[in-house]
Amino acid sequence: MKMDVMNVRRLIPTAVLAGAVALGATALTACSGGGATGGKDGKLGVTASFYPMQFLAEQIGKDHVKVDGLTKPGVEPHDLEITPRQTAQLGEADVILYLKSLQPAVDKAVAQSGVKNVVDAATLTKLEAHASSGHDHGAEEGHAEGEGEGHDHSHGESGTDPHVWLDPAKYAEIAKGVGAALEKADPAHAADYKTNTDELVGKLTALDTEFKDGLKNTASRTFITTHSAFGYLAERYGLDQEGISGVDPESEPSPARMKELQEVAKKENVSTVFFETLASDKTAKVLASDTGLKTDVLDPLEGISDKSQGADYFEVMRSNLKNLQKALGSK
Ligand SMILES: [Zn+2]
Repeated sequence: MKMDVMNVRRLIPTAVLAGAVALGATALTACSGGGATGGKDGKLGVTASFYPMQFLAEQIGKDHVKVDGLTKPGVEPHDLEITPRQTAQLGEADVILYLKSLQPAVDKAVAQSGVKNVVDAATLTKLEAHASSGHDHGAEEGHAEGEGEGHDHSHGESGTDPHVWLDPAKYAEIAKGVGAALEKADPAHAADYKTNTDELVGKLTALDTEFKDGLKNTASRTFITTHSAFGYLAERYGLDQEGISGVDPESEPSPARMKELQEVAKKENVSTVFFETLASDKTAKVLASDTGLKTDVLDPLEGISDKSQGADYFEVMRSNLKNLQKALGSK
């Protein structure tokens, strides 16, 4: 039954474009009830800016929402560009869910979209500034004019770190806010959104406990990573994040920074240099071979692809925990 309705809706816009009037007014009227967007199948249409936002919308909205992701799987989200077509589609969303200051192009498109129901995850928890220890935002100034090759981690005007979803406790706070926003946008299903939110928050709280317990007793508290995305995670569990080059995971760090990191590695008993799945591991390998360290993956979960070490947020986070425990010498 449901499939039939969906198929009819999919067919109509094509038929109209082709100039086929044979369908008649009745079919068009039947379709118009679902709003202008089409294909939503009577559901609440949520457009999510990148994976962690998409995951929240799907987990909390379940059958009542149709979620579209602006950042396609496997795409590094920071430097995402939005096509005019995507901007137009964005305007048709019932709800937009995004994280301001992570993706400048998305911020701009959202501001232009005219959509009333916009949820900025950055307002649902408290964002903080994190320096990637020793090396941080100095190098970013000149970066803005780059060819889009680089990795803009300027973290917004205020210097706040947007990678907040990597702290399960803060991600749970955002989940609660998203749940409340969906309840408001679609009151008919408020009870279900509430139930789903509670369930998700429960799972995130359990994950937080796993991290706390799993990282309690380790030989080292310091980890080195190409992508300084783990400031919130480090702070939550009492670890120190050392970013290799801070801004651009593809660029080689300066000789001075390399020397500094070699000293940190020795002093802090570091065994592993982490790299991420969506960017090159070149820098990590250079540093690791210079210092005799191992390399491993620490996934900032900015997207899920076939290279990810898990199918969703929870699986990848548990893989991150396992890799951190290994690298830090968990007892
Ligand atoms: Zn990032």
